[in-house]
Amino acid sequence: MHIPIKKVTPETEHAEIVGWVHEVRDLGGLLFFLIRDRTGILQVTAPKKKVDPAVLEILKTVSRESVVRIRGKVKSIDKAPGGRELIPNSVEILNSCESPLLLDVVEKVPAELDTRLDARFMDIRKPRVTAVFLIRSAVIRMVNEFLCARDFVHVTTPKIVAAATEGGTELFPIAYFEKEAFLSQSPQLYKQMMMAAGFEKVYEIGPIFRAEEHNTTKHLNEATSIDVEVSFADHQDVMNLLEDLIVSVYGCVRDTCSDQLATLSLDDLPVPPTPFPRIPYREAIDIAARKTGESFSFGDDIGTVAEKAIGEEMGQHYFIVDWPTAIKPYYAMPHREDPALCRAFDLMHPRMELASGAQRVHQHDLLVEQIRSKGLVPENFAFYLTPFRYGMPPHAGWGLGAERLVMTMLGLNNIREAVLFPRDRHRMVP
Ligand code: ATP
Ligand code: MG
Repeated sequence: MHIPIKKVTPETEHAEIVGWVHEVRDLGGLLFFLIRDRTGILQVTAPKKKVDPAVLEILKTVSRESVVRIRGKVKSIDKAPGGRELIPNSVEILNSCESPLLLDVVEKVPAELDTRLDARFMDIRKPRVTAVFLIRSAVIRMVNEFLCARDFVHVTTPKIVAAATEGGTELFPIAYFEKEAFLSQSPQLYKQMMMAAGFEKVYEIGPIFRAEEHNTTKHLNEATSIDVEVSFADHQDVMNLLEDLIVSVYGCVRDTCSDQLATLSLDDLPVPPTPFPRIPYREAIDIAARKTGESFSFGDDIGTVAEKAIGEEMGQHYFIVDWPTAIKPYYAMPHREDPALCRAFDLMHPRMELASGAQRVHQHDLLVEQIRSKGLVPENFAFYLTPFRYGMPPHAGWGLGAERLVMTMLGLNNIREAVLFPRDRHRMVP
């Protein structure tokens, strides 16, 4: 039975490994290989005079990125990665790889992102890319564990929907038999209905579809949203929950993904300092005005440039609170004292927005009024509005972008680096 390459230590005597041929070198008297699996790299050294001639014949023909099974004796050696090497006594080529390669897995020749995404399966073989996705997997697992430990119920809501969550243009229409339907841009309406269903705490980790017209480094057309909704909670409660979740996920990644972090040259992953400052929207636009020299009025959206300027000043994770009701969705609860402001918040990383949330409107008539004031037609939301007439508890929640979380945590330049097979304005394949 083979063992993961990481488990081969200088103390191991014999090992069988399977993996891909990362590098091949013929050093005259010596054939030299690096074999890679998702756990690491092992040096395989075959002194031509000492190894079995049949083994040597196979080794001479093997091409880079072929899939092999190798058995042999482990020797401790300082110069090799991991302080050990394997002297082969049996080699099997499970499948050979064509050459030239689609891209350089050893990363001596850097490739453009587009080239990399075209040959994504091969790009992902690069240890640095593998590391990103092993960490992403850990992040999702930790979010599940964090929420399960707090009694959240995992739900799955439909991705084919009849109406937009918030109206607007960011929708992908699809043909649904003889009707028009849309790909869901958010589980918002359904997770709120689950509050009326009495589940009290629900979460979903699922796809959201946004017909974003423009190619940016932080938008995808298909993203993953970590969505949470909590009954008998207000905006402050769910901000606290979000802050705890972020800190907990960073801590777990730091403690359990040290190999992957080292591969990414991130030996130190500082856990974000708490409490995250909570600055009112008005203060945020003042900072933006001061730092950018542009003028902002109450009700202006905080765009990419302003976001960066405020982030620079804050220098850590922070919340923007007390948003103008006019620029947040109809389901955000207005402040009782000043209905021009609402109980919505954004969680910000210095580089960009990570999450949006709010205490929600739970009163039917107020909700209808707010839907109208956004120029939308309440009749189109009948399925959503009905539960508000039959015992809807007060509730609050948020949606957190999984890709942006991973991207900002690992300092990736482009959100496409945080998703296996990105969907953007120009890419549907692979
Ligand atoms: P932005 O203003 O940055 O475009 P948004 O306010 O439109 O984001 P929300 O509708 O608030 O996004 O969605 C909640 C979270 O989901 C965002 O904070 C973000 O992390 C993530 N998200 C939303 N749209 C996208 C997208 N197109 N690509 C990647 N992540 C997204
Ligand atoms: Mg938002």
